[in-house]
Amino acid sequence: MAKADYYQVLGVEKNASPDEIKRAYRRMAIKHHPDKNPGNKEAEAKFKECAEAYEVLSDPEKRRQYDQYGHEGLRGTGMHDFSRMNVEDIFSIFGGDDFFSSIFGGLGGGRRGGRRGGPGRGYDLETSVELTLNEVAHGTEKTIEFTRQDRCPECSGSGAAPGTQPTRCPLCGGSGQVAKGGGFFQMVSTCPQCHGSGQIIRNPCPACHGSGRVPKKRTVTLRVPPGVHEGQGIRVAGEGEPGRNGGPNGDLYVYVRIRPHEFLERDGNDLVAIVPISFTQAALGATIEVPSLDGTRQLKVPPGTQYGSLFRIRGQGLPDVRTGRTGDELVQVTIETPTNMNARQEELLREFAQTENRNVSPKSQNFFERLKRHFGS
Ligand SMILES: [Zn+2]
Ligand SMILES: [Zn+2]
Repeated sequence: MAKADYYQVLGVEKNASPDEIKRAYRRMAIKHHPDKNPGNKEAEAKFKECAEAYEVLSDPEKRRQYDQYGHEGLRGTGMHDFSRMNVEDIFSIFGGDDFFSSIFGGLGGGRRGGRRGGPGRGYDLETSVELTLNEVAHGTEKTIEFTRQDRCPECSGSGAAPGTQPTRCPLCGGSGQVAKGGGFFQMVSTCPQCHGSGQIIRNPCPACHGSGRVPKKRTVTLRVPPGVHEGQGIRVAGEGEPGRNGGPNGDLYVYVRIRPHEFLERDGNDLVAIVPISFTQAALGATIEVPSLDGTRQLKVPPGTQYGSLFRIRGQGLPDVRTGRTGDELVQVTIETPTNMNARQEELLREFAQTENRNVSPKSQNFFERLKRHFGS
């Protein structure tokens, strides 16, 4: 899941001002807007990528985290999961009409108007969790902390100061929509006074400044099944943002990252270890120690083991996330040539070398014959 650089996505410099970022996002959002590119999945993906970049770069705290630590730094900040959202939802996050109406002439407003008044499902959020290979092997429970926009407790989400009520919007009469023009060509668009909510807040709640939402740290316990893969998303139902007007919460998607193991690499459900052995162990055979998920285990290598030989230890890999069937551990040996030999060792080896001319090992014999044939000598 390599993510693109957010500055590149919006086509701005690293030191771009908030205003430049806003203008760049507007420009890109217009270019890739799905209504301008009907049926073009690539444009839609680009549109969502721009929204994600803008969410981070338009928020001073998120931008600072991103500048300092890259995508890693945004872990747990409660990003919106734009890939699962529709275009109207993305609009409404970034101010919707205020932001785009001048360009699209209220486009989207009519479609959204009906939804805004009624209950709507909350937005999905995403975060990530880092696991060790051992945790992948056995499954685990993780405590996830993240921040989400929660219903303001002071005003119960109404946005009106305690003791006051939002009043019906006088311009649209509470429908959230206004009609322009007349007769045949009447156009319905989002009410500019209440932005489609149908309500006006005269005394905003001091805690949430009238938005009805406040950022709140959440802690959830995540059950991770055995065998999960890098980049896999685990859904925690109902832990996204609260719904509008009594609608259900969105979901939280927790994406899996797997911390590299010092000795083991994952290949599907198998684990691969590269283990160096000495040339005498390779020649004479030996019992060697190899790394495994739970400590070391012993492996017999036969006499005459070659560089790169692969040994399979059945059932010592990772469980399949669906079937539970366990993979294998594959041990590949490399052979180390001795250095810094003492006089005695060198003497022994020279003696061995003298016998070797009449008694070459099978593989190299084959190799030298092929070499001779190739050069015709
Ligand atoms: Zn209104
Ligand atoms: Zn409030």
